[in-house]
Amino acid sequence: MPTYNVAGVPVDFPFEAYPVQLVYMEKVVIALERGENALLESPTGTGKTLCLLCAALGWRRAHIERHRATTPVAPPPGGLREANWVEDLAASIGADRSGAGAVTASEGRSPRIIYASRTHSQLQQVVRELRRTVHRPLVCMLGSREQFCCHPEVRKQAGTALNAACQALTAANECSFYRRLQDEKRKQGGSLPHPQASEPEASRAVPDIEDFKSHAERRLEICPFYLSRELQASSDVLFLPYNYLLDPKSRKALNICLQRDVLIFDEAHNVDKVCADAASLNLTTIEIAGAVRELDRCIDGARNRGGGADADAVDDDGDVSNVSNSRSLLGAASRDTRGTARGFASFLVSP
Ligand code: SF4
Repeated sequence: MPTYNVAGVPVDFPFEAYPVQLVYMEKVVIALERGENALLESPTGTGKTLCLLCAALGWRRAHIERHRATTPVAPPPGGLREANWVEDLAASIGADRSGAGAVTASEGRSPRIIYASRTHSQLQQVVRELRRTVHRPLVCMLGSREQFCCHPEVRKQAGTALNAACQALTAANECSFYRRLQDEKRKQGGSLPHPQASEPEASRAVPDIEDFKSHAERRLEICPFYLSRELQASSDVLFLPYNYLLDPKSRKALNICLQRDVLIFDEAHNVDKVCADAASLNLTTIEIAGAVRELDRCIDGARNRGGGADADAVDDDGDVSNVSNSRSLLGAASRDTRGTARGFASFLVSP
């Protein structure tokens, strides 16, 4: 596998790179070195995903090595062997991002690569590309309960019904997969290490969403949905759909820290559509019909002021009443969509 010197950073590529691929990777590395944003475009079929992964992971490896070389040796935290503690610490970077064991960034951990795409099937494709590289980082993929739930009854449901069923079970501590996760966390002192953190990097597999789910469900008997949320903080590469990053509520719930991480928006021309969809509201025909009925009553009431079947729909001052459904519908719509839109806009302007 050839190694290229790309803007001073050694980058491994799975085959002889075309000039256009080298230029692309150079732009990625320069942007990362400078801590700048880059908007990169390349024709279909030129291996953008592979270039992005190789350049970003090559830069991350070089960044860790540089930092390790310039970090003064200090006494080992917690019982690591004296002679090898720097190596042990480097090997444990993925396992401990709390700040006590990380050696790279000034805020206590090495930069994580957060790779966002529109759909999970696109992310599956990215995982396949990652397997072609020399890199075997600690990977985590975030998804919804619908994708991850393994409870035999709850997983038969969909959407909000599934979410509500899960929330009810976890609040009552009645899901065995969730309980086992909590038990494991307690045993490990409050947070779970990445299951692959103890494996040598060269022998690690790169799991896709199905591998991760079946490992959590069958081998660990732990809820994959909550496990992925636990592991996202200790992963080297985090795969997720755009909306987890763009929605401030999701970011907060996931405790995603953007200060030190490398954000990659794949196929970023889709971001505006995702933002528009998330800041939009779907009204059912039943809700619209109910609102129309209420407003028709108000119109009739205005016509019949002083008497008639719908006269009570308008009071003496001409104000409408009995339109609570329409009002609450509009109120919720404007509140939710305004809040979401504001959150998205603030992220795009200043992440
Ligand atoms: S805790 Fe996990 S396995 Fe249990 S119901 Fe919720 S999503 Fe499903």
